[in-house]
Amino acid sequence: MLPFAGALTAKAASAVTPEATTAPKRDFFKELGVTPVINASVTMTFLSGSLMLPEVLEAINSTSYDFANLYELQDKVGAKIAEMLHCEAAMVTSGAACAMVLGTAACITGTDEQKIKMLPNLPGPRPEVIMQKSHRYLFDQAVLTTGAKIIEVEGAAAMAAAINSNTVMALFFNAAGKSSITHEEFLKVAKAKNIPTFLDAAADVPPVENLFKFQKMGFDLVTFSGGKMIRGPQSAGLLFGRKDLIAAARLNHSPHEAPIGRPMKVNKEEMFGMYAALKAYLERDHKKEWADWEQRTKTIGTKLETVPTVKTRMVVDPGPANAFPSLFVNWDRAKIKTTPKQVVAALKSGTPSIVANERDDSLIVGVVLLRPDQIDIVANRVKAILQQASA
Ligand SMILES: *Cc1c(COP(=O)(O)O)cnc(C)c1O
Repeated sequence: MLPFAGALTAKAASAVTPEATTAPKRDFFKELGVTPVINASVTMTFLSGSLMLPEVLEAINSTSYDFANLYELQDKVGAKIAEMLHCEAAMVTSGAACAMVLGTAACITGTDEQKIKMLPNLPGPRPEVIMQKSHRYLFDQAVLTTGAKIIEVEGAAAMAAAINSNTVMALFFNAAGKSSITHEEFLKVAKAKNIPTFLDAAADVPPVENLFKFQKMGFDLVTFSGGKMIRGPQSAGLLFGRKDLIAAARLNHSPHEAPIGRPMKVNKEEMFGMYAALKAYLERDHKKEWADWEQRTKTIGTKLETVPTVKTRMVVDPGPANAFPSLFVNWDRAKIKTTPKQVVAALKSGTPSIVANERDDSLIVGVVLLRPDQIDIVANRVKAILQQASA
């Protein structure tokens, strides 16, 4: 059973895939002694993102027998992605963090060759990027990489007042817990002063509509990760929006030899793979996929509830990041003498190693990244651990 078979042709569905359970000819995990991990959590970079879709692997494999000019490929793939996402221009980056470096660099340099060459060491006052104070996060380091400094504001009036001749961009972190400025106000203030706006929505699909929403709203640049729920290469991402800014971002990127983005190389494989992933994601039957996730929580939940006192419930994360169902598991600690934390540790150290989470005294079993054949493995392992701890 393929979870994403809805929109696939029979041919694509039968391709060699990460969903396939046939043993590979050569086991590289074994050869290097690397532990394969079952991800009953969410997409995380340190856990290698997500499993690429069969269509992505096909794109990578089938294009690996010829060279391509990367300028031409980025032109063509960018034009196609822009068409698919109803925006002016697009490019494939080495991830959303790379998109943030390149987007910021584009807003600083435009197409000025001298500035591109000097970045991040431009003479004169440092370029300024506006962010809401509550939007500061680990990933804004990508903005600072360009030599820009971040000006924190609270409220639309403060944002307007903070904009000056050094301001190059305004960054909106879409999944920030709280905002003192709404998307609409943010755009209004920036547009009134002609400041480009950038929205980071790296982990914000599903729902698929988010891939269209923010450029339509008026953001000049938008990024999504390629290797999260879009299931492209984890070393890929999307940057899209205004044509002049994408052109400037590309001048700041590999394969140009010297700009700031040169170490963030994207090769043919990521470009074809990202295109294939996006196409597959847009064509997928999202309702069916959601129903499959719900079914997974039911399957695992039903099995776990055969252990006395165990209660499970499906919880949908409100998002915008990771907005999908997972299974929350609770039990009577007088009867089952283990904590969610201990279960998470036991899952991790077991064979196979399973990564799950715990929060507020619940064990959280993620279902969306499991291969179909791993659903029962996870259910059985959790059940065995809880049974073992039963008084
Ligand atoms: C994951 C993430 C990033 C980084 O994305 P990569 O594709 O891993 O580079 C940036 N911003 C947010 C909000 C993210 O969740």
